[in-house]
Amino acid sequence: MSNEDGLLPSVIEVAKVEDITPRMRRVTFAGRGVEVYASDPTRVPNIKLIFPRENGDLDLPVNTGGRRLEWPDPTLKAQVRTYTVRRLDPAASEMDIDFVRHGDEGLASAWAERARPGDRIAAAGGGGIVAPPADWYLIVGDETALPAIGRMLERLPEGARGTAVVEVADEGERQDLRSPADIEIRWVHRDGAPAGTTTHLADAATAVPIPDGELKRFAWVSAESATVLRMRRYLRNEAGFDRRSTLVIGYWRHGMTETGYGRTTDHDRDFTEHDA
Ligand SMILES: Cc1cc2nc3c(=O)[nH]c(=O)nc-3n(C[C@H](O)[C@H](O)[C@H](O)COP(=O)(O)OP(=O)(O)OC[C@H]3O[C@@H](n4cnc5c(N)ncnc54)[C@H](O)[C@@H]3O)c2cc1C
Repeated sequence: MSNEDGLLPSVIEVAKVEDITPRMRRVTFAGRGVEVYASDPTRVPNIKLIFPRENGDLDLPVNTGGRRLEWPDPTLKAQVRTYTVRRLDPAASEMDIDFVRHGDEGLASAWAERARPGDRIAAAGGGGIVAPPADWYLIVGDETALPAIGRMLERLPEGARGTAVVEVADEGERQDLRSPADIEIRWVHRDGAPAGTTTHLADAATAVPIPDGELKRFAWVSAESATVLRMRRYLRNEAGFDRRSTLVIGYWRHGMTETGYGRTTDHDRDFTEHDA
């Protein structure tokens, strides 16, 4: 089965590499592979990327026309990482993905560090949940969630209000975030501490005043595992959010590859939360 009919996996080619801040690298993919990916509009906001093996081979799972791809070699799953489609332009067959530059220890981060126009990786799938309509939002994330937060803010309903609390390394990592909604952005800086080692984000997020009354509230949290676990407890036990009005998903776990984190706790997911 080929991908000529819009089927995955789709090999996507780098067209441009640009550092939008010192620690955030935007890779623009373009061409036929992106056209194939974009042919199904449900393949956003999340994307499963397959990276080449150490020897440079880009091995792919097999599409036999069933609902799921087949992975004849189980070691290939260790080459998969989850990212956010920051921008998808089907007309131009272009897609931006923003990679946190956390060094050579990570498969994806190391790849992004060396990415050049013409390099190829593959997209194995995509999808995910978007924030539902609400009157008031609490949005919390670290830099791995910044692409998702930027995308989400652009799509929030006009007239909605809320607060977004975003952790980045330092002031130089702030991005210009825009929204039709009235969202206060609170930046939290680690100022020298390594990512995933402080409680700054959860401390700042739990200090945000939560409006009460008849408002429809929604809380979205994605960051390192320890922060999302603390935020879920806080939202349920102290802030009075019910499960359906929260979506809390760990984006990474300190000291663990994504393969290990997915296998052990499935990203700290709670499938009773909003459409999770
Ligand atoms: C739905 C979803 C969307 C995501 N979107 C994005 C996105 O758009 N951009 C993005 O950059 N990330 C995003 N992430 C997070 C990303 O998948 C993880 O950070 C992933 O572990 C990176 O893979 P890697 O191969 O670079 O590192 P891995 O091989 O998975 O991990 C190697 C080591 O690096 C550590 N590590 C992983 N991430 C970081 C980090 N950010 N800072 C410091 N240490 C780290 C791990 O703890 C481990 O010790 C998303 C995650 C999910 C679940």
